[in-house]
Amino acid sequence: MSVTENLIKIKNNLPPKVKLVAVSKTKPVNAILEAYELGQRLFGENKVQEVAEKYNSMPKDIEWHMIGHLQTNKVKFIAPFISLIHSVDSLKLLKEIDREGNKNKRVINCLFQFHIAEEETKFGLNFEEAVAVLESDEFANMKNVKIIGVMGMATFTENEMQIKKEFSNLKKIFDNIRNKYFNEDPGFCEISMGMSDDYHLAIEEGATLVRLGSTIFGLRV
Ligand SMILES: *Cc1c(COP(=O)(O)O)cnc(C)c1O
Repeated sequence: MSVTENLIKIKNNLPPKVKLVAVSKTKPVNAILEAYELGQRLFGENKVQEVAEKYNSMPKDIEWHMIGHLQTNKVKFIAPFISLIHSVDSLKLLKEIDREGNKNKRVINCLFQFHIAEEETKFGLNFEEAVAVLESDEFANMKNVKIIGVMGMATFTENEMQIKKEFSNLKKIFDNIRNKYFNEDPGFCEISMGMSDDYHLAIEEGATLVRLGSTIFGLRV
């Protein structure tokens, strides 16, 4: 199956409210352009250098999403153009994004990444840590970041019940934060969850953004 065939099939089956982030990490420009020709505009990458190079060489109406762990000292390389950072997992990182947003005279959209999986290794905040950020004076003074939702990754397992439980937990976290800190602000609206193997479950649990790589572009080698 080609990128074109894969993408058409996926888009035809996606509920209209769910946006597709095509995860193009490790994939060449020609594969990305094939998706672009079909109207795909949201692309996700997990490495700073790779997304910066692709931004420079590709059509400027592409919206690049940073979905991988982001080091504070690398924010400056993506701050001029990044459309959404899914992986904010500390106050320190958010402060740096705010500082770089200010330098670039823009407001950078961000998601709080939550640790919802069983595995120890995955990055992310827990609820208390997110509350601490949201209630900090530093956050209150930030003018160049906007938190527009949450992101999470489920455990890598065959157990669908467990995956659904983890996604439903992220949805609850989203609802709690929206009620407490965003006063039902319609700008706080995104739930980024679901990858190639589990996005159907994520959609059932309320995902608004799904991040699909291999099911569009084929397996990464
Ligand atoms: C690679 C990656 C994806 C896409 O994974 P697939 O299984 O290829 O769909 C989604 N989210 C994150 C954070 C990733 O790093």
